[in-house]
Amino acid sequence: MATISDYIGKSATDNVNKAIDAAEKSYEYHAGLSLTRERALERAAKVDSGEITGRLAGVPFVAKDNFLAFGAPTTAASKFLEHFNAPLQATAIEKLEAEGAICIGKTNLDAFAHGGSTENSAFGPTLNAADKTRVAGGSSGGSAVATALGAVPFAIGTDTGGSIRQPASFNGVVGVKPTYGTVSRYGVVAMASSTDTIGCFASNASDAELVMDIMAGIDENDATTLPDFFAPTDVKASQKIGVIKEFMTTDVDADVRARTNDYIEKLKAAGHTIEEVSLPILKYALAMYYIIVPAEISSNLARYDGIRYGARAESGSLSELYGKSRDQCFMAENKRRIMIGSYVLSSGYFDAFYLQAQKARTLMINEFNELFETYDVLIGPVSPTPAFKLGENTADPVKMYLADIMTVPASLAGLPAISVPGGATSDGLPVGVQLIGQRRSDAQLLALAKSLEGAN
Ligand code: GLN
Repeated sequence: MATISDYIGKSATDNVNKAIDAAEKSYEYHAGLSLTRERALERAAKVDSGEITGRLAGVPFVAKDNFLAFGAPTTAASKFLEHFNAPLQATAIEKLEAEGAICIGKTNLDAFAHGGSTENSAFGPTLNAADKTRVAGGSSGGSAVATALGAVPFAIGTDTGGSIRQPASFNGVVGVKPTYGTVSRYGVVAMASSTDTIGCFASNASDAELVMDIMAGIDENDATTLPDFFAPTDVKASQKIGVIKEFMTTDVDADVRARTNDYIEKLKAAGHTIEEVSLPILKYALAMYYIIVPAEISSNLARYDGIRYGARAESGSLSELYGKSRDQCFMAENKRRIMIGSYVLSSGYFDAFYLQAQKARTLMINEFNELFETYDVLIGPVSPTPAFKLGENTADPVKMYLADIMTVPASLAGLPAISVPGGATSDGLPVGVQLIGQRRSDAQLLALAKSLEGAN
């Protein structure tokens, strides 16, 4: 894999050409949807002439294709936006560019980020970097695979319910989902506004820390952004770490548990205290998530009507135009979520589903907060299994949703959570370990991960 330091101080033009070549070679994995070659080379020339400088001067990266960016269409992997050229760039991309980073391409995802395998992309699935017969994970599968293949030293993505952590885990890279509000969502295609977060993939925690430090901060275009609290830091000695009992049952793949336990042993050896903890409400987390998130999706996706954005179906009347455009352009999973969301918000069902789920969400936040009075960090796997086979879960949406069981809690509670490589299964499939912290402890989580990198 590549690191940021491999690219610093080198010719930016060479860096960009090298990254584009590597991205093209990885076409067989279908990690990318487009290249921004012309714009990238223009920016590289400016770095080489000294006109553009910064902490990431000349460092190439890729962005999930739900970030508005110049130089290529922003499709969100949906037919709706197949030819949509963004009139502005996402704040996250602007901030990276202000430090000299160069976006070389856009990566594949589940359409509108709805999914956990990248199989819901309108343009075909991404293949796992370690085993091409398996899924990349999702929804930011393309960004994870591009990083794992070493085409770029880092990639950016979105995590609404696990979409950075789970593909990071499936491909053996570091994945950061920050505290809700850390990075501006401005210029990113909205999925579920109360849990959407912007984060990154990198080959190591120090690189992820630098990228997060650059992207974090308040933005007048996103009222939920927090004043910049992210400051790279050293690890706090002898932390109290709670192992989430509900995530370590025998229902979880044995290799996944074994690799998580290996990481726990490393934490012990580094002087941290480990205890088992319980969050009884976690058994309701998936139910909460698959009510609240579709509700927000049904609202956010209402703007794709064939009039204002993207594709428009041929039709005789206005209502037919709406219906046909949506029917032709949304994937089955998009439609399923819009229907579930509209149902749980409809009068008569609102109280029983949506309101109830929001109340349960508050109870879950309280359970987390109680634990954080005693524990610095919570630990568990990222996913109950390593990367599954392509097609294995596509016929059964509930089976696909169940794979999100360990990532949705931190999303609903707005907590920072990172996926760190924990080794591999006996078949050589990467396994990620998840570290969850209290709000705004993002830099501490990364410091902990950094302190263990290279430890045996
Ligand atoms: N797999 C989860 C879902 O399908 C997470 C998606 C995401 O974080 N964008 O909703």
